[in-house]
Amino acid sequence: IRRLHSDEGAILLPRSPVVTVMGHVDHGKTSLLDALRQTSIAAKEAGGITQHLGAFVVSMSSGASITFLDTPGHAAFSAMRARGAAVTDIVVLVVAADDGVMPQTLEAISHAKKANVPIVVAINKCDKPDADPQKVKNQLVSEGLMLEEFGGDIQVIEVSATKGIGLDLLEEALLLQSELMDLKAQIDGPAQAFVVEARVDRGRGPLATAIMKSGTLSSGNRIVVGAEWGKIRAIRDMMGKVIETAGPSMPVEIEGLKGVPLAGDDVVVVHSDGRAKMLSAGRKSKVEEYRLNKKSS
Ligand code: GDP
Repeated sequence: IRRLHSDEGAILLPRSPVVTVMGHVDHGKTSLLDALRQTSIAAKEAGGITQHLGAFVVSMSSGASITFLDTPGHAAFSAMRARGAAVTDIVVLVVAADDGVMPQTLEAISHAKKANVPIVVAINKCDKPDADPQKVKNQLVSEGLMLEEFGGDIQVIEVSATKGIGLDLLEEALLLQSELMDLKAQIDGPAQAFVVEARVDRGRGPLATAIMKSGTLSSGNRIVVGAEWGKIRAIRDMMGKVIETAGPSMPVEIEGLKGVPLAGDDVVVVHSDGRAKMLSAGRKSKVEEYRLNKKSS
């Protein structure tokens, strides 16, 4: 294992990429996520039963893995970014091979560029008789994307989400992109994470799906999540298995919060209930103040 030291002397280890799927409506974002989820070993072990928890992990036979955010579309990406959550490492830009570049394709490109997140293009629906992947590539080049085929560094993979074609190539392309980016995170020390989805379960109370950014999250940790706080009662992986600790790039479901946080909220570990309550109260009053100011202006 490569061990590298940051400026502060903390130990940094390679981590998996976190990927968001974007593209024009009906170009197959949801279908692609469904198909990718089915390639996950975990999904196979669970007999194909998968829950929508906001994220899933595809584990490759090589041991490498990729974390996918399970909320397609730009709204989620923008909401997270607006709240300062730079959680995505790579954007998969889905473009339908029959339809080509459309307004929301351009919007996705502009989001990714603004966020400085590299793009891997998935030309979808290549099974269709009227598919024209070359036309799509030419369109993307005229929009300023430096595709590999034209001497740039953006990979393009031709896929069919519904026929399950090219998914392995897409996953390999994402791993290659991630290697180029040399993604690393600190694994020791207190956890930092971002919420991607939160809800209330009737039996288990507030539940938050968070993607780990750095450090180690452990059961029993006191956490502040946005303006909410709690003591972690249980951490589950995306297959619903209870785990004791979680490290960088892992999506986890956290149980034990007193309230429901928002997508994009950050998760920080604090050392006491008192400190957690104080931070949470401070943030709640700030939110309230902001709300009142907005009303009066
Ligand atoms: P989204 O709006 O981008 O999430 O698109 P969807 O995943 O909902 O797909 C829109 C439509 O395109 C659905 O009817 C899908 O069955 C269809 N579709 C998605 N991927 C493919 C594909 O690879 N081939 C074909 N032929 N149809 C597809």
